[in-house]
Amino acid sequence: MRIEKAERLKRLPPYLFKEIDRRKEEVRAKGIDIIDLGVGDPDLPTPPHIIEASKRAASDPANHQYPSYSGMADFNAAVARWYKRRFNVDLDPGTEVVTLIGSKEGIAHIPLAFINPGDIALVPSPGYPVYHIGTQFAGGEPYFMDLLKENRFLPDLASISRETAQKAKIMFINYPNNPTAAVATKDFFESIVAFAGEHNIIVCHDAAYSEMAFDDYRPMSFLEAEGAKTVGIEFHSLSKTYNMTGWRIGFAVGCADVISALGQVKSNIDSGAFQAVQIAGIEALDGDQKCVEDMRRTYAERRDILVAGLCSAGLSVEKPRATFYLWVEVPQGYTSTEFTGLLLTEAGIVTTPGNGFGTAGEAYIRMALTVDCERIREAVERIKGIGL
Ligand SMILES: *Cc1c(COP(=O)(O)O)cnc(C)c1O
Repeated sequence: MRIEKAERLKRLPPYLFKEIDRRKEEVRAKGIDIIDLGVGDPDLPTPPHIIEASKRAASDPANHQYPSYSGMADFNAAVARWYKRRFNVDLDPGTEVVTLIGSKEGIAHIPLAFINPGDIALVPSPGYPVYHIGTQFAGGEPYFMDLLKENRFLPDLASISRETAQKAKIMFINYPNNPTAAVATKDFFESIVAFAGEHNIIVCHDAAYSEMAFDDYRPMSFLEAEGAKTVGIEFHSLSKTYNMTGWRIGFAVGCADVISALGQVKSNIDSGAFQAVQIAGIEALDGDQKCVEDMRRTYAERRDILVAGLCSAGLSVEKPRATFYLWVEVPQGYTSTEFTGLLLTEAGIVTTPGNGFGTAGEAYIRMALTVDCERIREAVERIKGIGL
């Protein structure tokens, strides 16, 4: 019996973290203490009030059956209330909200709702890999919009040819951005709405980091831009905001026709998120937001230590206003893969090469602020010790 994978799997690039994991294990086997700034997974626990809500809900037999496909009415209503409070955006919880099993699930599935073979999806490079892989799984062709430093890591819409724009069916954008940590302006979102309207492109804005922002900066929702709800949707996740990556709960909101098509795909693939998890999500969204403040303070402190330390070690990095990533320029003489290799073998520090997020990420590495201040200080000392 010959097990032959489908072309869609054969065409995939190797999983970004697989090679990094292999090299990490090699270094660990030599007895070197590893500081892992690689994966973007919060090291902080889920706040206790959220866990308590889930425990109560898990014991209730009413939550043991299949949930509703589009999400519990109560969860979708909590999402609408949160949107009103946080962004002053009105949403109809019945038609403009869908619950997701983590936002990655919705992002991976949305191309199935809109992409026909050969259709283009506009995808940022560097970017979260699910945008282009979801597109390819649906038979579409990603067109990479390079995010460049000189454009503050926003895509240059004027550089997209008319022909490409006409063939494009959907567009993914993501601000605050993983991996560059860039943020968007209202002007930018308005230019996206105009561009999408002109070329009939459905906008999918990934706002996973909307709450992970520092100092007095609070990112806006794409839906705050005039007309946004007629051209697209926004993905959100409780993963980063409430340290809930393992729980698998997120949502998409916006244009009712787009939400309904995503729901149609989902109802044929999954059966929704465990209700006890949705009830924990309601507690997270409606409950005391002090835990979010604490999360921001924790990452801001780590950010300040790492940015100052990297700069004094001679590296070039901007202080991010949001996300828990630093997008660090690779010094002269190295590729991003070589530089991550150097940090691993010479300093025991795991980072992610920028080219893993797309060719436009070459010349950068990403560091995630997912270890405590003491370990960050240790990382800085080790980097200084390399003598860059
Ligand atoms: C972490 C992250 C997500 C969230 O994924 P979940 O599936 O909700 O855990 C989505 N988009 C980006 C860019 C991310 O970095």
